[in-house]
Amino acid sequence: MRKILPALLLILMACSFLSPVHSGEPQAAAPAFKVITHPDGPLYVGDKVSFEVFSATQASLSNQAVRITLGNQNLGEVDIEPFGMGARQQATFYWAWDTQGLEAGDYALRFSLLPDESQWEETFSLRPAADLPPAEVEARWKSVNTDCCVLHYLSGTDAEKDLEMLKIMVAAQAAEVESRFGAKFKGKTPITFLPRVLGHGGFTSDGIYVSYLQQNYAGNATQQVIHHEMVHWLDGQQHSGLRLPILQEGLAVYLSEGHFKKEPILPRAAALLDLGWYIPLNQLADSFYSSHQHEISYIEAAALVSYLVATYGRDEFDTFYRNIPPAPGSSQAEALDAALQTHFETSPARLEKDFTEFLRQQAVADATRTDLRLTIAFYDTVRRYQRELVPSAYFLYAWLPNIPTMRQRGIVADLLRSPSSAINQQIETLLVSADASLRAGDYTAAEADIRAVNVMLNLYQYWGNKLR
Ligand SMILES: [Zn+2]
Repeated sequence: MRKILPALLLILMACSFLSPVHSGEPQAAAPAFKVITHPDGPLYVGDKVSFEVFSATQASLSNQAVRITLGNQNLGEVDIEPFGMGARQQATFYWAWDTQGLEAGDYALRFSLLPDESQWEETFSLRPAADLPPAEVEARWKSVNTDCCVLHYLSGTDAEKDLEMLKIMVAAQAAEVESRFGAKFKGKTPITFLPRVLGHGGFTSDGIYVSYLQQNYAGNATQQVIHHEMVHWLDGQQHSGLRLPILQEGLAVYLSEGHFKKEPILPRAAALLDLGWYIPLNQLADSFYSSHQHEISYIEAAALVSYLVATYGRDEFDTFYRNIPPAPGSSQAEALDAALQTHFETSPARLEKDFTEFLRQQAVADATRTDLRLTIAFYDTVRRYQRELVPSAYFLYAWLPNIPTMRQRGIVADLLRSPSSAINQQIETLLVSADASLRAGDYTAAEADIRAVNVMLNLYQYWGNKLR
């Protein structure tokens, strides 16, 4: 409970900080739509403002579109489509409102739902460009080539300060990944260091993206995350059929010897059985990214890959993994079932029985069980914090605009601005502290910090709702 005493005051401050105008809360007459603006925080003259428009009640909006206008100026018309891992139905306007040259002040934007033309208006406030924090004014995209990689980062950020260390780190991780994977990278690996936490702090798409900042509240795991994402990048360069997420993520965690840190994968997965948290494989294979507890899914998937490699050998596993044919109309669990029959002549039920028996043979230390339980509690708390107070960082709907386009257009604010009210800072400090304690094996301190964050979020939810 330590560090909570000032929480109520902070929460009350946060509630007033979070009130519109700039954040785009619907006005009294507005329909049940929510508008999120980016950059994520106060808007300044000169910003290229993006909008996410979605139903606050999650009403179905298929075959509809949204238009935004400012007076006679049409800022764009965008179809409502699934967004993010959570597939939220929304109209997403990337950098639609260029505020360069405007006066500071309030602007009423009109939102029209098409085709029925129902409309509402919301007011957004632009602060003077002169008030922009100097670090943001001066920030520029920079890139540097190393033997293995191309590193992209923003000037003035922690990545620039620690660049020499990061160059050494990525070289070491690239060599390690090639060795463990048994293949060489084709070309230089593009890695972008992001100066804010988005989702869990790392992802791979057209390159590798890793959150890098001293106050990384999602855990101090840069090296581990780079290793994990490099496995994905190298994996993606190999010949393959349907790379099922359960196996793709399982392989990345298995070859990285852990998820967010080096950890005993099989004993941790065995502890899931003890704790009643084991997910049946057919359920785990379906909707791997969005339907299950994240850390449980990843450790169990890694244990499955570890079991398959131990049982059949790495070569046989690779042949199995890389030759799963696309299965249109089938679920991922069905595709996995068919591949298991074809390659290993085993049924899913038989695999599950053998796998869980294999796990039950693992010795599970009390510390392993405690560490696992608190790791899950920690990341559930990180996600709860993001959902409540940094929604654009929450992994299901994270704001991840195309970063090569941002580099090309010199856009930096989307990555530099994020909520930084007193309650944000207080919670992030507690999360950083909890992560450090967890990594040091000080479970009592870690649990106290995790509990403190949840108490603050409970108070925030209570008082926030009272004050709305
Ligand atoms: Zn991954």
